[in-house]
Amino acid sequence: MAAKLIGVLALQGAFAEHIAALKKCGAETFEVRTAEDLNKIDGLIIPGGESTTIGKLMNKYAMEEVIKARVAEGMPLWGTCAGMILMAKEIVDSDQIKLGLMDIEVKRNAYGRQVDSFEAELQLAGIGQIKGVFIRAPYVGRVWGEARVLSCHNEQIVMVQQRKMLATSFHPELTEDLDIHQYFLEMG
Ligand code: GLN
Repeated sequence: MAAKLIGVLALQGAFAEHIAALKKCGAETFEVRTAEDLNKIDGLIIPGGESTTIGKLMNKYAMEEVIKARVAEGMPLWGTCAGMILMAKEIVDSDQIKLGLMDIEVKRNAYGRQVDSFEAELQLAGIGQIKGVFIRAPYVGRVWGEARVLSCHNEQIVMVQQRKMLATSFHPELTEDLDIHQYFLEMG
């Protein structure tokens, strides 16, 4: 069987790092820039960046409905940081554009201004221990429905899975650790 073609939304943010990590895992990669591109791929990552900007661009290029349709068909989707925010059904104090796919409520920039970024050892259910890099990170305040918590840091939820959707507050693409990329590839 041919290797899976994994798309990374390449509108803004840290997409190049996800492409590099996926290549190290042996996946075929694709930088997604148009709605048509979304029909060529077997899985999609929405990277970290600025969720309001990515949301506006996604809307401008008419990608939202196509992403939702592909996910409804069972295409795996993973959002890191800004990507996680875009996947949430609820975003605290924000009416920004979102996909609203996961049964989670996120709080943006949740760790405050003093702690712009930090690293922490995280225990991930079913995966093991990794180093988490958090950059102006959101956390998940609440999950419901089908969302399952895979990791917490200081009692805040930082990783959630719902069927074939994955959301992380932190940036695995900025470390050498490929465990979550591997996990995502196996979800497909
Ligand atoms: N703070 C950003 C936002 O709200 C997310 C930060 C990130 O993706 N590293 O969109």
